[in-house]
Amino acid sequence: MDAPEFTTIIEPFRIHSVEPLRLTTLEQRQAAARDAGYNLFKVHAQDVIIDLLTDSGTGAMSRDQWAALQHGDESYAGSPSYYIFRDAVRELFPFEHVIPTHQGRAAERILFSVLGGAGKVVPNNTHFDTTRANVEYTGAQALDLVVDAAHEADSTYAFKGDMDVARLEALLREQGDAVPLVMMTITNNSGGGQPVSLANLHAVRDVCDAHGKMLFLDACRFAENAWFIREKEAGQSGRDVVDIVREIASLADGMTMSAKKDPMGNIGGWLAMDDDDLARRCRDLLVLTEGFPTYGGLAGRDLETLAQGLREVVHHDYLRYRVRSTAYLGESLQRAGIPVVTPIGGHAVYIDARAMLPGIRPLQYPGQSLAIALYEAGGVRTCEIGTAMFGRRPDGSEEPAAMDLVRLALPRRTYTQSHIDYVIEACRHVAVHRDELRGYRIVEEPPTLRHFTAVFEPLP
Ligand SMILES: *Cc1c(COP(=O)(O)O)cnc(C)c1O
Repeated sequence: MDAPEFTTIIEPFRIHSVEPLRLTTLEQRQAAARDAGYNLFKVHAQDVIIDLLTDSGTGAMSRDQWAALQHGDESYAGSPSYYIFRDAVRELFPFEHVIPTHQGRAAERILFSVLGGAGKVVPNNTHFDTTRANVEYTGAQALDLVVDAAHEADSTYAFKGDMDVARLEALLREQGDAVPLVMMTITNNSGGGQPVSLANLHAVRDVCDAHGKMLFLDACRFAENAWFIREKEAGQSGRDVVDIVREIASLADGMTMSAKKDPMGNIGGWLAMDDDDLARRCRDLLVLTEGFPTYGGLAGRDLETLAQGLREVVHHDYLRYRVRSTAYLGESLQRAGIPVVTPIGGHAVYIDARAMLPGIRPLQYPGQSLAIALYEAGGVRTCEIGTAMFGRRPDGSEEPAAMDLVRLALPRRTYTQSHIDYVIEACRHVAVHRDELRGYRIVEEPPTLRHFTAVFEPLP
């Protein structure tokens, strides 16, 4: 017999411990949405059936991660768990200094406290929301220089996370003194989970070298990005993902990291770099708010699970399944006539709410409207990435975001294909009823990161 050619990409694991889901009715969900001020961040997780709010910290740990947890050493200083963690990070990202933090944003806050400040400009392909907020909090300007294709929701360019190198070059030529470092977000979360090509990273490195600038990675989804490079970039097929990750690391001077993404952790992050003086200044701040440099706000057991997670995330069987299952959701929505951002990214599918709901103007938050409808219809919690999230400018004015998207983020190793089939049905139901959806207005909001706590009201 020939070896069969399977088209089904199965989950490369089986279930070892289960969590019950609480099934709710339409009426219960409508009441929960109302009680939450139509803000899905305020809905109780027990009132959610399939939670696609984020892939951050929501993944399932493996048997070997739970075993590693038992190995945790909780010594205040010099815990062996720290060295296991540091070596696992360096196996992929061989930076001199590896500084644990409780999450990615803590790494960002520390880095930009040292390098930011009024009058500075930080370029990035696209700043993630916490990255932008931490840059702006210091008084610096956060500048997004992603390629134009990123703003075309239906573009087919494979590496829509790429930096516009010509604009970066122009910035460094004209305002170079104001730029403390260049950032690259891999994959580009806010831009649709789109990967950055290796060629683009090399080109950005060259420009940084020409102007004497450091390049830092916001590397949350480095393994998914490396898989896309292997699958889609000319000359890269067949390469080991570990090899690609090391090449990416070799182009950078440091990184910020949320370990709640590709490192398969439920909590954690780190800051890493080669520069001794910068590392010293970062560690000084770390001690102020995170903790001693060998634990940085994490328990020793967390550091152990992250070390193991880093070993697992670069397995090809895992990454093939991961990227394929995201594409399965996206392609099914496309077949149902629902506009999604293409090509489909690594960790999430993004519905183009502005295109799906043309009757709702951007300042009436079409993404918010769609996200609430998906929740009410099926108990599926998603996340608006659009004008509700990005519309408020630092000067207090409001303008439409570049796109109004709804993100369906897939927690790692958590939901099966039948869960995803249920999500597809919920989306189809909302699409059939799309003409009944209304816009929203914001009746209460905080000064920064308003989407987490704002209170919304449906328009009449
Ligand atoms: C999640 C994320 C962050 C922030 O990390 P936290 O652990 O949530 O603080 C920064 N950048 C990107 C690209 C992210 O996806």
